[in-house]
Amino acid sequence: MSNCFVCQQKGKPVKIVTLQNLLKTEVLAKLNTTLNYFFCGEENCPIVYFNQQGQIFIIEELKVPVYQKDKSKNIPVCYCFNWTRESIYQKIKETQQNDVENSIKAKMKAQLCACEIKNPQGSCCLTNVHQTIDNYSSEFELLNDDEMIVLTQN
Ligand SMILES: [Zn+2]
Repeated sequence: MSNCFVCQQKGKPVKIVTLQNLLKTEVLAKLNTTLNYFFCGEENCPIVYFNQQGQIFIIEELKVPVYQKDKSKNIPVCYCFNWTRESIYQKIKETQQNDVENSIKAKMKAQLCACEIKNPQGSCCLTNVHQTIDNYSSEFELLNDDEMIVLTQN
């Protein structure tokens, strides 16, 4: 059973190395590296990590803000290459293209990403980047009446 104690949603397994890197120093000693931890990605839930023994780590106990749980513009979407909601928005606005995903993919290919130790979810950010860009698409159409922007380039 790997459901979050607060929101009851299913958690996603994360590696210990993710918690070792992202928990604040003052709470790190609470981490039991012999147990399995799960990530709660529910927007309105304060829990970030939990284990099946009832231990939890909340948003404030991480060194970085959590994309899924904070809708602010300056929250990281891609933790490895420093893309925030705002910088993604600005880049697309500036270039009129979706170069962001390709840029991230190219760096991943060059093995420059470190999602396991940088991203609280412990895995690749691309789905979140895609979702962020999708959320902006209507906004861009409103901003650019006669300009089409390419939102998917594969
Ligand atoms: Zn939760």
